[in-house]
Amino acid sequence: MNLRISGLASLLAFGLAGCQGGAPESDSFDCPAFLIDFAGDMDEALNLSADSEFGQSLLDKYTSFKLTTDLSVLTEGECRMIPHLIEAARAMEEIFWMQAYGDRDALLASIEDPALQTFARINYGVWDRLNNNAPFLDGVGEKPAGANFYPPDMTREEFESAVQGNPELGSLYTVVVRDADETLRAVPYHDAFREQMERASQELRASADLAEEPGLKKYLSARSEALLSGEYRESDLAWMDMKDNTIDVVIGPIETYEDQLFGYKAGAEAYILVKDLEWSGRLSRYAALLPMLQEGLPVPDEYKQETPGTDSDLNAYDVIYYAGESNAGSKTIAINLPNDEEVQLQKGTRRLQLKNSMRAKFDKILVPIADMLIAEDQRGHITFDAFFSNTMFHEIAHGLGIKNTLDGSGTVRGALKEHASALEEGKADILGLYMVMKLIEEGELDVDIRDNVVTFMAGIFRSTRFGASSAHGRANMIRFNFFRELGAFSRDEATGTYRTNFERMTDASNALSEKILRFQGDGDYEGVTAFVAEYGVVGQELQADLDRLADAGIPVDIVFEQGIRALQ
Ligand code: ZN
Repeated sequence: MNLRISGLASLLAFGLAGCQGGAPESDSFDCPAFLIDFAGDMDEALNLSADSEFGQSLLDKYTSFKLTTDLSVLTEGECRMIPHLIEAARAMEEIFWMQAYGDRDALLASIEDPALQTFARINYGVWDRLNNNAPFLDGVGEKPAGANFYPPDMTREEFESAVQGNPELGSLYTVVVRDADETLRAVPYHDAFREQMERASQELRASADLAEEPGLKKYLSARSEALLSGEYRESDLAWMDMKDNTIDVVIGPIETYEDQLFGYKAGAEAYILVKDLEWSGRLSRYAALLPMLQEGLPVPDEYKQETPGTDSDLNAYDVIYYAGESNAGSKTIAINLPNDEEVQLQKGTRRLQLKNSMRAKFDKILVPIADMLIAEDQRGHITFDAFFSNTMFHEIAHGLGIKNTLDGSGTVRGALKEHASALEEGKADILGLYMVMKLIEEGELDVDIRDNVVTFMAGIFRSTRFGASSAHGRANMIRFNFFRELGAFSRDEATGTYRTNFERMTDASNALSEKILRFQGDGDYEGVTAFVAEYGVVGQELQADLDRLADAGIPVDIVFEQGIRALQ
């Protein structure tokens, strides 16, 4: 699961003051000079200025940010991998286009207005991801809930009856097609997207050959094979075992957000990452506290009986390339993977804090939002430290709670279907805040809780703007309405700003934590459906406040200038 929130955490909160560390490259090898030969094809920069008012109103939702990092921490082999990894990432880009929409090239060629063409690229299709997937081209219908993973004329009922006799239809890694005789058939991704999977596999193989670190070499080899076989577990396990690498790549069909029909199908994506060794060393200690935090959850024992993996780790990275689902609409700033529940129970998860993109979102979006919507006397509590730690604990919180329903019938994800992602994101948000409160109580964290709470509150406005079509957007709408009902904040009519009620916030967040954990443990699909219908909405007053942010030109999210040139 990933978190599309922004923000940088403060070094001070975690005692992270210090200089940049990292292994120096060999004197004879100049990474930027080596890479420049690959510039051109591997660069991406979107022009966010439009000729038409309509085009500009769409592009204004985004602001551009350059993805860069300190390349001197890479070894020669790691540097030489970069062009291969970008090629592999671009194959995921092509696959995600087919999963989300269909024929990318035909679509882009059919759009005359360059601004709308750019907007289609940002959205991987013709529906505005930040506006509940509203179509932005004339004559376009609604986006199918199942995107392009299922036949457009397939009904839920038809699928649900067919999957009984053919479990492959419900696999994370198959596309569902309709045969000539009308029956539904599952086509594995490695067949449906064979050309792209083979290309990506070769590039990962070439990267593995360049890898010096054994863990990285093993992972890249295993991932290269997984793309061709559709068997990802072994490569997920290898990824969990990898500890000493500086460069990293998350690649393949991974998250299920794009399948809003059932939440079964994984969208293709890639992140190319460079670890910040200094930050990472300090962050990892929090993972060790997971068992204590799990025990303290505000729910009855049966809802916290699973033991979180103990060799879970937590690291900070700069992202140097995003592709596919992670690059569609709102951008991910923290990752918690793998999603395979079996691997999670065996090894835990890895949590990756993407600090350059967090910084971009904090500076360019969260602070301007707070300046408009947070009560003036509480604005001093909006800090990057708090934003970073809220984001970090969100990721750790995915490891808390429960993965399988109490009745033993299967995973929470399977039981809660299309609501699973929003519930899981909502859980991680609220338990993240619970963890901060708990760690302060235990003397493990020395911060002002008011910073975290007010920054959390401002974050609700930021993420609600992602819209109901985003799992994170919906989770934040639910939390906003739930908090309002319990008096965790109030709105000042005169100034149109929101004031956090610190006393009531603790009870409200415990109540919401309990509600979500029970829904998950009970696998209560009916209950969740009713809950989401009641709370997962934006009321008139909130909408008017969100409109003020848009009118003030505050972007909703970022797009990246990325590739070889951005790294120079
Ligand atoms: Zn998350």
